Amino acid sequence: MSACSCTWQIKMAKFYQLSREERIEQLQKAGQLNETAARLLRQSPLLPEATAAHLTENQLGQFPLPLGVVHRLRVNGLTREVAIVGEEPSVVAAASNGARMASLGGGVYAQAPQAHLVTAEIVYAGLSKANLQRIDEAHDDLLAVAQRAHPSIVRRGGGVRDIRSIVKEQFTTVLVTVDVQEAMGANIVNTIAEAIADRLDVLLQTRRLFAILSNYSEQLTQASVTIPVAGVATASGNGAAVAARIELASRYAQASTARATTSNKGVMNGVAGAAIALGNDYRALEAGVHAYAGRGQGYAPLTNWRVDGEFLRGTISLPLQLGTVGGAISALPLARVSRELARIECVRDEQEVLAALGLVQNLAALRALVGPGIQAGHMALQAGALAIAAGASGGEVDQLTARLQDSEKTLRNAQRLLQQLRQEEDK
Ligand code: NDP
Repeated sequence: MSACSCTWQIKMAKFYQLSREERIEQLQKAGQLNETAARLLRQSPLLPEATAAHLTENQLGQFPLPLGVVHRLRVNGLTREVAIVGEEPSVVAAASNGARMASLGGGVYAQAPQAHLVTAEIVYAGLSKANLQRIDEAHDDLLAVAQRAHPSIVRRGGGVRDIRSIVKEQFTTVLVTVDVQEAMGANIVNTIAEAIADRLDVLLQTRRLFAILSNYSEQLTQASVTIPVAGVATASGNGAAVAARIELASRYAQASTARATTSNKGVMNGVAGAAIALGNDYRALEAGVHAYAGRGQGYAPLTNWRVDGEFLRGTISLPLQLGTVGGAISALPLARVSRELARIECVRDEQEVLAALGLVQNLAALRALVGPGIQAGHMALQAGALAIAAGASGGEVDQLTARLQDSEKTLRNAQRLLQQLRQEEDK
């Protein structure tokens, strides 16, 4: 045997080339999956009936989506496996590619806010001046009501941090800011807000319009990555040229709402999918992120890329309403597995990992966009879904996917190729 073929034999397959079972095994060996988590992933069990029935009204069934993993995303010096739930085949591939590029610069560094704060609005319409003064005078009483409304969050080190009121047009809004610790906090904050509002209604002798948390927040998680420009080179473009084009595309997004919207959609491909895998409320997350992006004169991109000498530097800033406890998180067995895979220890960590994920997802998208274009990679991965839509099953899926690579990627063509494949098999 030649030295050359020997080298070939011991060459390790890439993570994405392994079978599902081999991937689970590899992560188990690396200590990133324990026995129970590995069993759960192997079996992909449905939720227990009682859990499913309690997580939705009028339950008819369950709706499986694949869970993929972004391999080796380095965040704050730790290498993570970040699970993403979603139906768009290119999302995990792109994020893994972004994670690989980021690792060339030592990975992503991210920082979440020190405290995890959520604010509620208690709104009154048409209050008199005397009533406005009553609200100010009741501050300490309202604080005591708030702490009694949710004593367990106070015992955990959280609770109300601020109560103040603002007047705008005919509306008086009492803003109640709560440290929700490890929870996403919607229910905690709503419980506290309604308790304060009940007390205020009596004090002001009028019924509030409503009391509820706001999903808007400027508590930002920030992440940055600095990559040698050579790391973003493509088959047809050298690193410096590609990095310069990435910067230009980033500047364009700052000037164009149309582009910023699509850029942020790409960021959220990974972030929202990971939030689902972690059992979080991705609607709250999306609402908060897009409202933040639209806070200024126009809708702005969440990321920023600049060339600095031999390096490409990217940053992202976004509010991330997440929790590691509460809501459905503990009821969803795979949410725990996702947390373990990503080595997430607390909510700040969770925010930092997801901000990093959004940043590398954006990098991969921009590099493809200013390089070979987005469709080549997308459509190659989309071919599998097309093969299934055309009716392929079992071994046919891989065969038809392969044939579709160099052929027109339409349903009609996929059906034609499948028919051809079956005729060949019959011969
Ligand atoms: P929960 O109501 O489940 O509250 C979290 C609970 O977790 C706490 O009450 C606390 O109970 C427990 N807990 C255990 N350990 C900790 C810890 N270290 N820090 C904090 N809490 C801890 O969930 P949330 O208040 O987080 O609300 C999230 C849910 O609200 C989601 O399902 C979301 O979809 C939903 N929601 C969202 C809305 C929105 O975004 N607009 C509106 C309404 C609901 P204990 O201390 O007693 O153990």
